[in-house]
Formats: sequence, structure tokens, C-alpha cells
Amino acid sequence: MKVALITGSTRGIGYGIAKALAAEGYNIVLNGRRPLSEIASIITAIRRPGIAVEYIQADISKINDCEQLVNSVQRMFHRLDLLVNNAGIAPKTRADILELNTNDFYDMLNVNLAGPFFLTQMVARWMIEQKRQDPSREIAIIFITSVSAHVVSTNRAAYCMSKAALSMAAKLFAVKLAEYGINVYEIRPGIIDTDMIAPVREQYAEFIQSGGVPARRFGTPDDVARVVVAIGKGLLPFSSGSTIYVDGGLHIKTL
Ligand code: NAD
Repeated sequence: MKVALITGSTRGIGYGIAKALAAEGYNIVLNGRRPLSEIASIITAIRRPGIAVEYIQADISKINDCEQLVNSVQRMFHRLDLLVNNAGIAPKTRADILELNTNDFYDMLNVNLAGPFFLTQMVARWMIEQKRQDPSREIAIIFITSVSAHVVSTNRAAYCMSKAALSMAAKLFAVKLAEYGINVYEIRPGIIDTDMIAPVREQYAEFIQSGGVPARRFGTPDDVARVVVAIGKGLLPFSSGSTIYVDGGLHIKTL
């Protein structure tokens, strides 16, 4: 049975993805920073007959945690078919680019860029081995970036830069892993209604209603999860390296 690892999956978009992949028959590895004792109800909500759901506590910005995460998946399941790099943070405060301090800059880059990059590097090496053993297996990697990889917010400079760089990481891995038959995709969500955007929800609601999002609604974790499921089902076999927007048209320039 196929196995998916979704980072940062105890709430928000990651949780939505985990739930949708479980419904597709994937065994699920959840990840987050909280101890297992706090995750019991989340595991129960995702579990369904015939599906294994495990939780591994790991801070993906720490290289040792990433190693333990990969080792644990190897020990538990002996295979990994889909890695979804979802964990990410928003800025603690929205400071203007001229005021952005080094701590906030490096915190952001460590979690949103270095973490998924090195985790993917480790997983990719293992996935290459798995493909060598059984070339018929469909194995894929997904990076959840953001419209902020493309759209500028001068009060969230580090976030925008981290996502733009992560977008390039997706392309780099797509090219490197193509020769092994491992596909890599970038999903770019727009404004998705999760805890992450709670502090600015009102402001975003006004932006959406004024036409900033042509679809005139918030996105949901399920909107993102549907794209992940399509990839997980192997429906985009010749689209490695593609960027898929899930933003109701936010990124489209109009005149
Ligand atoms: P969220 O804050 O609700 O959930 C993120 C999860 O990741 C949390 O459970 C958090 O604890 C976990 N996490 C954070 N740092 C981690 C770390 N170092 N190690 C392990 N887990 C960690 O956010 P969300 O809205 O669900 O966002 C998920 C992803 O989608 C993020 O990468 C975010 O940048 C991206 N995104 C979100 C939106 C949006 O509007 N909500 C838009 C575009 C992109």
C-alpha cells in the first residue's frame, strides 16, 4: 500500500491533504512539532479501515529531526511514495522590508526553505533506491509554495523570498529526478482559510471581495488537497516541474 508523508499536517492545509490522501487509500505519516500525546484526536479523525496513520514529531528546520523523520518512515513502512513538503511559517510580525531583522529573516529561511530542501534531498536519495528496485512504482514529491513566490508583499519580504527560492528548489529537483522517473510538482496556494491567515483574515476578506481574487472567495485546504490527490493518483504523469496555482485567479494581472 502506498505511503505519503505530509509535513506540518496536524492542522490547516497539511491536515486537509492528509485526510484526502487517506480517503484515497494511502497510509499516512503525519508530522508536526507537538508531542504525540497532543495529536491523538487528529490521528483518530484521519484513520479509516485498512489505513495506517502514524505521527512523527520532528521540526523540519532541524537536520537531525529530518534524519529521524526519514529513518522512522523507513522503519515503519519500508517505502515512501509521496512526500508533501507542506510545513511552513508566516512572519511573526509584518515588518516593512526596511525594518526586517536578521533573526526573523533566518528563522523564515530555515523553516520554509532549508527544511524542505534538506528533507527532500534525503528522501530523494531513498526514492531513487526504491525506483531502482521497482521501476514500475509511481513516486512523487510536492512542494507547497505560495502565490508569494510571485506576488510581492513588502511587509513579508522573507516569506516571499523563501517561497520564491522553494519554487526554484522544486524545479531543480524536478530536473535531477527526471532521469529516475520521479516527478516533482509545485503547488502555489493563494489565500487559504487556515489559522495561518487568522491575524489578517478581515483584511484578506476585503481584498477578495474587491476582486483581488477573481473567484471572490477564500480557498480551502480541500482546494489544495484535490490537486495533491490528482498527483497522488498519477493523473499528471508528464507534468513534472510544473507550477499549479490554487488561488482562484489571484496571480492573474488585469487591466
Ligand atoms: P498553518 O500554520 O495552519 O499550518 C502549518 C503547519 O506546519 C502547522 O501545524 C505548524 O505547526 C507546522 N509547522 C510549522 N513549522 C514547522 C516545522 N519547523 N516543522 C514541522 N512542522 C512545522 O498553515 P497553512 O495555512 O496550513 O499553511 C501550510 C503551507 O501552505 C505553508 O507552507 C504555507 O506557507 C503555505 N501557504 C498557505 C497559505 C494560506 O493562505 N493559508 C497560502 C499560500 C501558501
